[in-house]
Amino acid sequence: MHLARFPRIHLAHLPTPLEPMERLSKELGGPTLWIKRDDCTGLSTGGNKTRKLEFLMAEARAEGADLVLTQGATQSNHARQTAAFAAKLGIDCHILLEDRTGSTDPAYTANGNVFLDFLHGATAETRPGGLDMNAELEAAAERLRAQGRTVYAIPGGGSNPTGALGYANCALELVHQANERGLRIDRIVHATGSAGTQAGLVTGLQALNAGIPVLGIGVRAPKPKQEESVYALACATADKLGCAGVVAREDVVANTDYVGPGYGVPTPECLEAIELFAQLEGILLDPVYSGKGAAGLIDLIRKGEIGRDETVVFLHTGGAAGLFGYVGAFGYGAAKAAPEAVA
Ligand SMILES: *Cc1c(COP(=O)(O)O)cnc(C)c1O
Repeated sequence: MHLARFPRIHLAHLPTPLEPMERLSKELGGPTLWIKRDDCTGLSTGGNKTRKLEFLMAEARAEGADLVLTQGATQSNHARQTAAFAAKLGIDCHILLEDRTGSTDPAYTANGNVFLDFLHGATAETRPGGLDMNAELEAAAERLRAQGRTVYAIPGGGSNPTGALGYANCALELVHQANERGLRIDRIVHATGSAGTQAGLVTGLQALNAGIPVLGIGVRAPKPKQEESVYALACATADKLGCAGVVAREDVVANTDYVGPGYGVPTPECLEAIELFAQLEGILLDPVYSGKGAAGLIDLIRKGEIGRDETVVFLHTGGAAGLFGYVGAFGYGAAKAAPEAVA
């Protein structure tokens, strides 16, 4: 796996830290938990899309693009990181934002990631939920090309074989960190959505023969659909890397029991996980992805499906900017009373 064969713009703050979560491990009475801090990739509050964009934006620049076009949900972290990366390169950014939740809360529609998209100078148009957004993306790309723009279109989540290279790179980085400190990892758990993170990670780990299973916690699609899309992308990524066939169907495992009512709708378990990470580890998760991923991790530990003697790495994929779109979900008032002083 020789990633220098692919065009790349080195913009992410790498390697991201790999840290123990001692208080959370103790609270759960169980596995030794570590966290891989891909919320700390450095670009506009960080997140997993930055690793993918290192490869995608290098292609955009090589093709002479003057505009990058992408799509995502209203509170898309991918859109925010794309807007920031484009700003850094001096390329225009236009985004199609899909209303997947129906929320009319101004915090959701205008704060958090949406605010940052515009702060980075991106333009956006909205779409109702449920459309074929990649078809919408193609149509918008055609329209902009007809206006004379040189468009580089990035699929939702930056999830194609080029973007997934960013997570093959993360696999290399994580295995190297674990080897350096003698940390034997039994499994990796993370939130999976548009599939590029898990596909790249699994492909990279298989190519390295690392023997570390990955569990994706779904945030939207049912299990068969999620696993199929990760597997298809992993196969295409392996082809691109020149190691076709390295990923088997059973290497791709997703648990989609923690989606709740739907994409972008936080569950009580998700909110509990966000509070646990915030209050025991000082780490910010998000209500759409990493909060649900952590809710899955915590529940599987409590049910004993993840063993107490395991060493588990939670890959923190970022998203904390989205918290500001969901402040109301936590129900905090203007003041929170301190514990009464002991007389
Ligand atoms: C996009 C995203 C994910 C999911 O990654 P995919 O590559 O789309 O599967 C997880 N967490 C956060 C915070 C994200 O923004």
